[in-house]
Amino acid sequence: MTVCVVGHSNPDTDSVTAAIAYAALLNAQGTEAKACMQSEADVLNPESKLVLDRFGLAAPEALSDAAGKQVALVDFSDIGQGPANLVDAEVVAIVDHHKIGDVTTNNPILFRAEPVGCTGTVLNKMFKEAGVAIPKDVAGGMLCAILSDTVNFKSPTCTDDDKAAVAELKGVAGIDDTDALFMDMLKAKSAVDGVPAKDLLFRDYKDFDMKGNKVGVGQLELATLDQVANLREELMKAMAEVKADGRHTVLLMLTDVVKEGTDLVVLSDDPAMIEKAFSGKLENASMWIDGMMSRKKQTVPNLQEAFGC
Ligand code: MG
Ligand code: MG
Ligand code: MG
Repeated sequence: MTVCVVGHSNPDTDSVTAAIAYAALLNAQGTEAKACMQSEADVLNPESKLVLDRFGLAAPEALSDAAGKQVALVDFSDIGQGPANLVDAEVVAIVDHHKIGDVTTNNPILFRAEPVGCTGTVLNKMFKEAGVAIPKDVAGGMLCAILSDTVNFKSPTCTDDDKAAVAELKGVAGIDDTDALFMDMLKAKSAVDGVPAKDLLFRDYKDFDMKGNKVGVGQLELATLDQVANLREELMKAMAEVKADGRHTVLLMLTDVVKEGTDLVVLSDDPAMIEKAFSGKLENASMWIDGMMSRKKQTVPNLQEAFGC
């Protein structure tokens, strides 16, 4: 059976390129594998689209139902972020850089998770350990994923391993100027013109279970907050709709990549608890949090503490 390598829902560049890269590694090692992604009607986010085009990579094929399939997970290990019926699939491998989620298996599997900034960094090590050369186009995708996940090395999730991986992958991919590449990606990912508010909210969005409460956290990385100044009302409306669908809290991180901070927009059954979690004060349902860049390392841990997870 072909192993379907798949990243989290609402796939980001790491989920897309890690699926491509890990499928390539598995195939090189004699395990038949194909890259997949969870996406309805092939809706790639604009950053990922740019990355695939830039390096001539094919988009992974759509996988919405995992029942009866052999799957390898990249960039996540939470059932809630997986395809439908993941519990009825056979998970054969996990490669990740997040907190360990709630996926369990009946058999021993390859499980590789490291506290680094990107799955691409872990995969770069795995290629080297396996003695498998990374194809040039795949290296380009992995490089972009690291730049994206670490916000060009500015995120607190960034480690020396990520920087070392970029230095190596640059050579393989034939890229000189990674800052210019990152700015092209940022321009693509922060483009908001003509995009419906709900699509913006879901562009980079994850649901979490916090002590039985469903909590959604979206993030938009922007070159400046001015980009969304006229969209606030629409975004709040979209958040309210999503919240009404059984969620305790919906947060939207409007992250200013240049100022290195986040305007956190909050819709919650308990706004006071969210204020306390981030030691801030909400004004018009939002608060500026200096230095906040990472959902994984800053937003989610604070929320988990507040919810008593
Ligand atoms: Mg990701
Ligand atoms: Mg990632
Ligand atoms: Mg991200």
